[in-house]
Amino acid sequence: MIDFRKNADRILKDPVVVNAVQRATLHALKKREETIERIPDFEDLRDRARLAKEKVIGDFENYLKLFKKNATENGFIVHEAGDAEEARNLILKILKAHGARTVVSSKSMTQEEIEINPFLESHGIKKYETDLGEFIVQVAGQRPSHITAPAIHLTRKEIARLFSEKLGMNYTEDPEEITNFARNFLRGKYFKADAGMSGANFLVADTGSFVIVENEGNARMSTTLPGVHIVVTGIEKLIPSIMDLPVFLKILAPSSTGQRQTVYTSIFSRAPEGREIHIVLIDNGRRRMLKDPILREALMCIRCGGCSNVCPIFQLVGGHAYGSVYSGPIGIIWTYAIFGHEVAKELPFASTLCGACREICPVRIDIPRILLELRRRVVEREGGRPGEKILINVWAGLMTEPFLNKIGFRVASKVQTVFKKGDKIKSLPSVLSSWTKFKDLEPLADKTFRELWKERKGS
Ligand code: SF4
Repeated sequence: MIDFRKNADRILKDPVVVNAVQRATLHALKKREETIERIPDFEDLRDRARLAKEKVIGDFENYLKLFKKNATENGFIVHEAGDAEEARNLILKILKAHGARTVVSSKSMTQEEIEINPFLESHGIKKYETDLGEFIVQVAGQRPSHITAPAIHLTRKEIARLFSEKLGMNYTEDPEEITNFARNFLRGKYFKADAGMSGANFLVADTGSFVIVENEGNARMSTTLPGVHIVVTGIEKLIPSIMDLPVFLKILAPSSTGQRQTVYTSIFSRAPEGREIHIVLIDNGRRRMLKDPILREALMCIRCGGCSNVCPIFQLVGGHAYGSVYSGPIGIIWTYAIFGHEVAKELPFASTLCGACREICPVRIDIPRILLELRRRVVEREGGRPGEKILINVWAGLMTEPFLNKIGFRVASKVQTVFKKGDKIKSLPSVLSSWTKFKDLEPLADKTFRELWKERKGS
């Protein structure tokens, strides 16, 4: 079981990680704001993207069938894998058929999901991640800590130390020199690799093409230099038509990195002669999500990472606290759906339900609603935490009975003076103590709204 509280406690004691994550997420949010200000029809684009995804979800098998037919006609070799194990074996079979010993790969969360790297390693195949962030976490022996920015938790100093210790780089903290070192290290790998792997951002049903967006050019090199290319992708990446693609491209980058567009957009619409391109379509629980009236909405995710950037929990603890390849608000839902209740039953509670994720999501996924439903399911199976039911009932009484409300808040506003230091509440006792463990609380106002109303009405 993923122990979110334990993970979060550990991370919160490390100010370097907390600062690094906070700086990076807030920076991405600021850039997003600046960029969407310059896209007057951004809200309209969000609606159109949502509609396109709804179309796919509403008629999923037909769109998938159409994609497979068109992709095959384009010369791609299409495979389907029901679960992670089947996907791993399929990929291994293709690589073995080509005698592959080394593979270069561009960023793919689906590959992380099926844990392909250790599997290939155990079969004597070395896979190099070529996205800079992925490469850094691979060298560090860690998991990505953000859907789009895998090394968000690491500082320049840590990366410098890592590269010099593990790869023999002459120690430098200059970002340009560090990047150049990684670039030169990986450059050699592209030319020697026997196969290239990638994910896909979009699978276009009506043309049978697939689309990869990126910023570093590494995906282009990984997918075109080696003799064989394997695309590993979840079946949810479908979009109905190539006419929908511009809509998605216009909302993805601003929501993710705050760029107007990613630097490279590659549309693969035909397999070049003499070169094999395999597309491995992975289910691994996605059809189960499709059948679930609440969870199916999460399949619309275009993996921009915006909900992580804006989440007050993620901003504090970063992705590793979630103990899964998928982190942040949408990651909770995906982890629960893919890896199951027993693994993820703590995660739905790692949210304030503030709604910021719903506001920012470019395809308007109602993440808080899904999280609330997951909480309901967890409590139904596990029962609530001790004392929780009593607390909730007391709270419900306070909020629904005018008399209790009046008395309760008057008492609370008097009692709080015991815990107040200056103008903040610094610590609460007993079961309430975790609320003030890592933050100060705003105290209740001296006068209630009712009292103020009465006074002003009187005046
Ligand atoms: S849920 Fe929405 S905001 Fe979060 S990663 Fe997916 S598309 Fe982006």
